[in-house]
Amino acid sequence: MKDKIVTRLSGFLIVLCLFAGSLSEAYAAAPQIREARFWTAPDHTRAVLDLSAAVEYRAYSLHSPERVVVDIKGAELRTTLDNFEKNDPVLIDVRYGKPKPGTLRLVMDMREKVQIRTFLLKPMQGKPYRLVIDLLRAEDADAKVVAKASDHASKPIVIAVDAGHGGEDPGASGPHRLREKDITLAVAKRFAEEINNTPGLQAVLTRKGDYFVGLKKRVIIARKANADLMISIHADAVKQRDVSGASVYTLSDKGASDRVAALLAQKENSSDAVGGVMPGEVEDPLVQSILADLIKRDSLNSAEMLAEQILKHIGQVGPVKYGAPKHARFVVLTAAEIPSVLVELDYISNPERERLLRSSEHQDRLATALLEASRTFLKEQGRLPPTQLGRDEQHMPSGQKRSTSGQPQT
Ligand SMILES: [Zn+2]
Repeated sequence: MKDKIVTRLSGFLIVLCLFAGSLSEAYAAAPQIREARFWTAPDHTRAVLDLSAAVEYRAYSLHSPERVVVDIKGAELRTTLDNFEKNDPVLIDVRYGKPKPGTLRLVMDMREKVQIRTFLLKPMQGKPYRLVIDLLRAEDADAKVVAKASDHASKPIVIAVDAGHGGEDPGASGPHRLREKDITLAVAKRFAEEINNTPGLQAVLTRKGDYFVGLKKRVIIARKANADLMISIHADAVKQRDVSGASVYTLSDKGASDRVAALLAQKENSSDAVGGVMPGEVEDPLVQSILADLIKRDSLNSAEMLAEQILKHIGQVGPVKYGAPKHARFVVLTAAEIPSVLVELDYISNPERERLLRSSEHQDRLATALLEASRTFLKEQGRLPPTQLGRDEQHMPSGQKRSTSGQPQT
């Protein structure tokens, strides 16, 4: 009797296992493409497919006319493929079909020959499996601008302006859905414009639109442009909605100044995983060996001075969360020879601050504060002569004057 029960039970278990097995097989056999997003960057166009499961795929080029073909095994298309920029520099159209049973084929019509880079991202931070297809242009629009800049007879002082996040990585978001990637880009563009309106200064934006740039790639863009300083722009978020104020961070060779700074660095450094960087995509020995670099100490000291100036000037247009710069290992600050700081402009999680961050007047005030801080820093460093500062001030309104008159109630 006892044996019979055991036999029946094991029989039931076998059926259950078979059922579960066929279920998981069916699930694995029909992964779905649930959403497709396209991001246009100066050097590439990125397609991202949200998947219900991992897929097997093959990507290759066909010529005359130029096409990129992606065959995905057993996948079903459950979304449209038309939300790319119509004036995309490489992509004309995306089509799909089933060349044979069990294969979904995506065909991307190209304006020019491209290199293909593909990788599969595992689920993370609420995002599903993602298949990333990068269409790399032969010519980098950014590189052209930098080359042109270095042609100048007298080299201007170059400020690398880094708008945090972008594309697949929205960064933090506010209670009224303001996204960090949008506010960082808005302030970065205004800041860059003010820099370029200042004689002797030139801005290089590491990101110019809504696309993702890996953290090390940002460092490389700044380095290739021979940047004299780099300011990475972010906005923070916490659960408590009443928290407000700016904070400024520099790289540290001694570890983080405290747990909060370490956690923030961890959060900002996760940008690569969310935004999508292929493992080993960027190899830069200088970035790898940052902590062994000899010039590091000097540029860390300079970064500290720049950070102090930013706190001082940003403190004139809004509240400051921490009165002194903090330190942690932010990947985006690892250009050893470039004084680099990361600014959290304010807390996007605070509804009142979110509203201000959204306003173009406040974005202007923040941009002007960053410019004034940079100018004061460069003057302290002897890079910008006081005479030039005086002459400039006759031509453009001082940020401090502007910010005092329009200072928000905080
Ligand atoms: Zn951020």
